[in-house]
This record gives sequence, structure tokens and C-alpha cells, in this order.
Amino acid sequence: MGPLRGPRILIYHQIGAGLGREMEVSLSAFKAQMDWLADNGEIVDLETALATRTQPGTENQYVLTFDDGYDDMFRLAYPLLLDRQLPFTLYLTTHPTESGEPLFPGGSAEPITWDQVKTMRESGLMTLGAHTHRHGDMRTTSRGEAREDLERSNELIESRTGERPRHFTYPWGYWSADADPVVRDLYVSATVGSGVGSGDQADEFKVNRIPVQLSDGVVFFKRKMHRGLQAEDKLRRKLRGYAGP
Ligand SMILES: [Zn+2]
Repeated sequence: MGPLRGPRILIYHQIGAGLGREMEVSLSAFKAQMDWLADNGEIVDLETALATRTQPGTENQYVLTFDDGYDDMFRLAYPLLLDRQLPFTLYLTTHPTESGEPLFPGGSAEPITWDQVKTMRESGLMTLGAHTHRHGDMRTTSRGEAREDLERSNELIESRTGERPRHFTYPWGYWSADADPVVRDLYVSATVGSGVGSGDQADEFKVNRIPVQLSDGVVFFKRKMHRGLQAEDKLRRKLRGYAGP
């Protein structure tokens, strides 16, 4: 398997939460990863990467995306992003932020607040994307339910921030044929979960991302940036029974 083509769109969730879950990255690892990216490529915003992703020479472009919206992302990752003036995308799940209830109960996973979202927006560094209202698995959601959920999410984001989200990412990364037409109707792009790890796909509604995980540290992170997940990801998808894009 050769090196990946196109930009790498990285998925982060929690930073420095100390919960020991794969969906978090320690603050020191996050800093080291940002150092590595600065030395080895260019961090660009999502819109730039989407517009140029099929062109040669974009292999060293990286996009930082943060899913769900956690308080630690604002407290620990955002100051670093601001200090270094790095563009990033937040794919926000609206129910936790609107209700104050954690998306995944279990401590230290408090949702980000609307005020925090607004602060980051005002920096000009953030692209605010949508990630549903309820974070349901779109594979088991009807088209009508998907539309209702996504419209609720869009309306909340618009009423709280004044901006309608243009980009979407599927919960758990699971693409769904039923939701696909609704997503195409409401957004200009959609990313899926792990996928094979490259952002060069022609269809802007099935763009892959690379999850960055607790066990990656710096060594595995570098390897992922060069080669994506490929074999590891095929196995993970098989174990989860997922055969989508
Ligand atoms: Zn999510």
C-alpha cells in the first residue's frame, strides 16, 4: 500500500480528559502532534481542503476536526489553536450543548457551551459544522427522522450563533443511504468516520477522515499521517459490521 493521496482530515474528540478512552488524546500528545504537523505539512481549513483535495500536491495538507463538542476541547485545545492561529472545524452535536447533558455519561465529558462556541467562532479560526442533534446511528434512522433531527440541529446552531452550518459529519462515521439525500439537501459536504483515511475522494458527501486516538501518541500518529489506517481500518470496520464508504 502506497502513501495516501489528498489532504488528511483528522478526527479529534476529547483533549486531556484523563478518562483513558480511545476517543481522547492527552494534552502533551496533542501538542506534539501539532508540532509534527507544523514541521511536516500545512494545516488548512476544511473549505480549502475540500476545494483542492483531488489535486496533486495536497498530500501534506491537514485539517483538524473536533467531533461532538466537549468542554475540554475548548479549555485545553482551543488556547493552543488560538496561540498558533490554526484553523479547525467543530462538528457540534446540539442536544448536549442545548441541554447541558453529557453525550456519553461517565464523568469529565461535559458538553461545550454556546458561549464557548461563540467565543471560538469570533476568533475567525473555526468552521462550525453539524453532527446531528441526538447523535443517533443514521443506519437505523428513517429518512423522515433524519430530516427532523438535522433540521433541529441546524435551527439551533443558527439561532444560537447566527450561522447556518454548511458541513456535516455522520455520527460514529456511519454513512447511510437513507440519510444521504437529506444530507445533500442541507449541507455542502459530509465526512464519514474512519474510512481508509484519505480526503481525496471525488464525492464531497463521502469524504473520509482519520481518527486520532489515545494509543497513537506520536509514533503511531506519524505512521497514520503517512499511510492512514488502511489495513487496521479494514479490520475495525469488519468487526463493527460496517460495509459503507
Ligand atoms: Zn460523534
